[in-house]
Amino acid sequence: MSDEALARDFEKRQLRWGLDWIGDEIQRVNNANGWDGLDPESWDREDKKHRIPSKLALLHSEVSEMLEAFRKGDKDNFIEEAADVFIRLMDITHPLGMDIASAALSKVAKNAGRGHRHGGKRV
Ligand SMILES: [Mg+2]
Repeated sequence: MSDEALARDFEKRQLRWGLDWIGDEIQRVNNANGWDGLDPESWDREDKKHRIPSKLALLHSEVSEMLEAFRKGDKDNFIEEAADVFIRLMDITHPLGMDIASAALSKVAKNAGRGHRHGGKRV
């Protein structure tokens, strides 16, 4: 592996470690505040999987709050709601054991090959 490739691999690992740390911290705070979290079994277990759509609805609510902040021109609230979106996303993917850092990097690489406006889409 070249030095450049090693450096990129190291940066990816740092990103993954950082997001793992943030995910752990989000879980710690949520648990301390009494919120019912997901765990690796939540994806498949009948008695737990209903929590995932509930958490997706909460993620969606934060996106709506972000839109409302934009409509009001409130940049401070916009970034705060963006943080809520990030926290909600991490609150779903991290306890399920999903590697969002690698998934995001893979998706960015995939998007790089999709061409101008991803094949002529308007927005
Ligand atoms: Mg919010």
